[in-house]
Amino acid sequence: PEEIFKNVISHAKEYGFVFPSSEIYDGLSAVYDYGQNGAELKNNLKTYWWKAMVQMNENIVGLDAAIFMHPKVWEASGHVAGFADPMIDNKDSKKRYRADQLLEDKIALYDSEGKTDLAEELQLEMDKALKAEDLPRLRELIIEHNIKCPVSGTANWTDVRQFNLMFSTQMGALAEESDVVYLRPETAQGIFVNYLNVQKSGRMKIPFGIAQIGKAFRNEVIARQFIIRMREFEQMEMQFFVRPGTQKEWFERWKQVRLKWHLALGTSPEKYRFHEHTKLAFYADAAFDIEFEFPFGFKEVEGIHSRTDFDLSQHQKYSGKKLQYFDPEINQNYVPYVIETSIGLDRLFLLTMINAYEEEDLSTEERADSRVVLRLHPCLAPVKAAIFPLTKKDGLPEKAREIMDRLKVDFNLQYEEKDAIGKRYRRQDAIGTPFCITVDHQTLEDNTVTIRYRDTMQQERVNAADLDRIIGDLVSW
Ligand code: ATP
Repeated sequence: PEEIFKNVISHAKEYGFVFPSSEIYDGLSAVYDYGQNGAELKNNLKTYWWKAMVQMNENIVGLDAAIFMHPKVWEASGHVAGFADPMIDNKDSKKRYRADQLLEDKIALYDSEGKTDLAEELQLEMDKALKAEDLPRLRELIIEHNIKCPVSGTANWTDVRQFNLMFSTQMGALAEESDVVYLRPETAQGIFVNYLNVQKSGRMKIPFGIAQIGKAFRNEVIARQFIIRMREFEQMEMQFFVRPGTQKEWFERWKQVRLKWHLALGTSPEKYRFHEHTKLAFYADAAFDIEFEFPFGFKEVEGIHSRTDFDLSQHQKYSGKKLQYFDPEINQNYVPYVIETSIGLDRLFLLTMINAYEEEDLSTEERADSRVVLRLHPCLAPVKAAIFPLTKKDGLPEKAREIMDRLKVDFNLQYEEKDAIGKRYRRQDAIGTPFCITVDHQTLEDNTVTIRYRDTMQQERVNAADLDRIIGDLVSW
C-alpha cells in the first residue's frame, strides 16, 4: 500500500493534478497547487457536495463569507485562547515536534512490537494529560518512555508549550492604525456570524442549514502525508440550526446522510468507518468522524459535530447582538442548536485519487502490457471525452474539430492528434477520461465515429449526432 501511495503522488504530479507550491523555488512546506486536471477534479468534487447539500435540500442555502473576519470573532470562538497544539523542542537538533504526535508514534511502535500493555497504558496516560491540558505531564511521559528526537537521537527536551495554529497578519497601511487579523482556521465562523442575516433575508424557518466552501489556514507544525495535512486547505462545511432538544435526532440523521454521500461514489463500504470522539469539547453534545482507510491507515475525512448553542451564544455575548429565533410552533425565542458537518476537500481529493488509481496488467501470452487508469466516476472526471482524428490529413482534423466545437459547450473535452491512437488512449486513461472518440475516413461518409470506453476498453461505432446524449447520460449528476 505504501508503494501505491508513492505512485499516486508521483502520478498526481506527472499528470497535472497536484504540484508542490512554488516548486521552482524548491516548494513551500505543506502548501500545494492544483494543476490543470486537479483543478477540474476539485471543482467537480465541490459541485457534487454543493448539489447534494444546497440544491437537493430546500432548507439549506449557500454562503461565501470572506476569509478575513473581525478579530473578536476568534476570541468569541475560543480560537485565540485554545486553538493550539502542545509543542516540544529538542535542544540539540533545534527541531520542534508535537508532543502528542511523539507519544502517538511511540504507541504505534509499542503496538508493532507486540507490547500492547505498554501501548494501552501510554495511550491512557496521554489522553488524561491532554484532557487536563497538563503540559508538564506530557513532557514527563516523553522522558519516561525514553522518546528520542529522530534527528539528533537525544532525549534533551525543552518544556512543552502551547503553539497557536492561527496565521495572523496586519490590516491597514499604517502600523499604528493596524490591527491584527487572522486568516480563518475554519470556515464555520463565517456562517455563525451571518446566521441572522441569512435567516432574516431568506426568511428561513428552523430547521435550516447554511453551507459554504472555502479556504482555511492552519499553521500546522507537522506537515505530513502529502495533502492530508496542509497549511492552506479547503473545507466544505454545513451548519444546521435546530430547535434545542431535537439535536440528537438531527445528529443521527446527518451522520447517516453524510456516510451515504461518500458511498454514493461507489467506494466499498469497508473503506469507511465512524470514529466516535471520546474527548469531547466541554460544550459539545456528540462528535463523530467519518474515517477513510488511506494506504497509511484510517484517517479523518469529515467531522460531524453536535455543538449545542455554544457558537451562537458566544457571538451573542461578544457582539452584544441577539442571535435568536422566534419559533412560531412553540411560541418561544431561543438560541438555536447546531449540527455541523465539516469535510476537508483536499483529503476528499486524495481519497478519490487513491480509490480511482489502478495499475492494470493487460499482458497476454504474446506480450507484456499494462496501463495506469484512473477509474473516476464520470461525473468527477476532469475531461469528459477526448476527440481524436485518426490521422492528420484527408480532412479528418477538420471533421474532428467540428464535433469538438459542438460538444465543448456542454462538456470539458480534449482534442489530440499527436501520436498513435493507442498512446493517446493511454494518456486519457491516466487522467480518467471516460470516453475517447475517434474520427476516421468512414466518419466523412456516414457521420459515425468509434467511441472507446475507459473501463472496458471496448469500442463501438455510433452516430456522431448521438454523442451529446451518450456522453450526457453518463456524466450527468
Ligand atoms: P485533524 O485531527 O486531522 O487535524 P481536525 O480534527 O483538526 O483534523 P477539523 O477541525 O474537524 O479537523 O476540520 C474538519 C476537516 O477539515 C477535517 O475532517 C479534515 O478533512 C480537514 N482538515 C483539517 N485540518 C486540515 C489540514 N491541515 N489539511 C487538510 N485538511 C484539513
